[in-house]
Amino acid sequence: MLGLMQDWPLLIHRVIDHAASQFGVQEVVSRSIEGPTHRTTYSAVRARALKVAQRLARDGIREGDRVATLAWNTWRHLESWYGITGIGAVYHTVNPRLFPEQIAWIVNHAADRVVMTDLTFVPLLEALADKLPTVERYVVFTDAAHMPATKLKNAVAYEDWLDETDGDFRWASIDERSAAGLCYTSGTTGHPKGVLYSHRSNVLHSMSLCNPDGLALASRGVILPVVPLFHANSWSIAFSAPMMGSKLVMPGMKLDGASLYQMMEEEKVTMAAGVPTVWLMLLQYMEKEKKRLSTVKRMVIGGSACPRAMIVAFERDHGIEVFHAWGMTEMSPVGSFGAVKAQFADLTGEALYDLKMKQGFAMFGVDMKITDDSGKRLPWDGKTFGRLKVSGFAVTRGYYGLEDQNILDDEGFFDTGDVATIDAAGYMQITDRSKDVIKSGGEWISSIDLENLAVGHPDVAEAAVIGVAHPRWDERPLLIVVAKEGRPVDRDSVLKFMEGKIAKWWMPDDVQVVGEIPHTATGKINKLRLREDFRDYHFPGA
Ligand code: AMP
Repeated sequence: MLGLMQDWPLLIHRVIDHAASQFGVQEVVSRSIEGPTHRTTYSAVRARALKVAQRLARDGIREGDRVATLAWNTWRHLESWYGITGIGAVYHTVNPRLFPEQIAWIVNHAADRVVMTDLTFVPLLEALADKLPTVERYVVFTDAAHMPATKLKNAVAYEDWLDETDGDFRWASIDERSAAGLCYTSGTTGHPKGVLYSHRSNVLHSMSLCNPDGLALASRGVILPVVPLFHANSWSIAFSAPMMGSKLVMPGMKLDGASLYQMMEEEKVTMAAGVPTVWLMLLQYMEKEKKRLSTVKRMVIGGSACPRAMIVAFERDHGIEVFHAWGMTEMSPVGSFGAVKAQFADLTGEALYDLKMKQGFAMFGVDMKITDDSGKRLPWDGKTFGRLKVSGFAVTRGYYGLEDQNILDDEGFFDTGDVATIDAAGYMQITDRSKDVIKSGGEWISSIDLENLAVGHPDVAEAAVIGVAHPRWDERPLLIVVAKEGRPVDRDSVLKFMEGKIAKWWMPDDVQVVGEIPHTATGKINKLRLREDFRDYHFPGA
């Protein structure tokens, strides 16, 4: 017997409809690409998203068509997502930090019909346009006054393009399982792979994530997503903030410590979310300028392992609660969240930081398991590590254009490519990416653990560990560090600092000090590049 509840499809437009009707006056504040701070409301975002939808429909864009966005976090980018999905088309977020050839590859693979972009990226697109045959039109997120002269096909200023509509439009009525968003994985090897979110998966994932043991969004909160909309589906914030009516503060293209600090203070931000490298810049800025954040209460850090030193700096020195989150593009993207469960409510000091170092427990809608290489489940004892596999309503079951490849195991779980432990309380801790773990004498050494420890050294700004071939042990860890500004660091002091804090055989065989550690387009340490850079390196005496 079926239930008698209404069939209310989980469509993305319902989110912005709700925001406009319940939190219509709530602000969306952006640092515009043109310069000045721009202020709008959820009600206006909805009204303009309807115009985007109407205009796209008039331009012949149909359900299932892909519309690329190559843009920073601003109100216009937000409106475009709702407008695109509002006609059943698919927003395809393109990461501008990818190599130009990769951008061309994914735009062609997605067969994007329209590219919506910021002024910043017009030159990049002009250089690529000849290689993008599927693109029929470029919409530049600006007004007529700032529109540059460009040869881009059918280029138009977004404001002019919108002005030709009246917004009298109805959202498309489509199946909630329809595709809504497309985001390609950063693909360090081989071609990027497209993850295709649905309306339903986006709505459910956002609902699950905004609860109190997650992003804890509320209409009285002010959230600043440093995480770009082009990274892993914006960690859901483009949906979850309007869903809960939080004030949304969009930093545009200025992601340096000083600019973020200024925006957080001016807009009274209570919660911010981003990758560790961004927070490193902010912490360094605050340390140098002797500044403190006066309104921020929660910091959500994920995308890469959050170093202990960062958790301690925010919590102890700034009184900001840190939440360590884990996920991946294939998971919409958040899979676990580092809230403190009731049974650990009394933890303080180092014991609390130990817990916060873990990547948290699975949120509702995510099933997790760790297995050995044969697929056998491993125990949740906090020690045994294995391949981390997941299933859930917002976990991918295939890649766009590769639908015939079965990427799930017999139980329907997706292999994340991460190696992890899970403890008896359900807290998961990433040991490493399976391809980054260091295999020494048949045992595994976690590069993440070593990096976390090394950045605790007072003179180390950033650390990376890679495995380097060793004649006896197969591989041994090489630690690569960047010194803090004006604080020279030497090998021996780093090794001395680490001694006694880890098993002896985990100690790096050498330390190299470099000016900069390379990062991927999503802000992670680029281990592939590092391994190439150190290809000819040999351990002293090995
Ligand atoms: P992406 O799809 O680009 O977001 O990358 C996903 C990968 O980033 C995961 O599979 C992890 O290897 C890594 N990752 C994400 N969050 C964390 C975290 N909190 N700690 C360690 N690794 C993380």
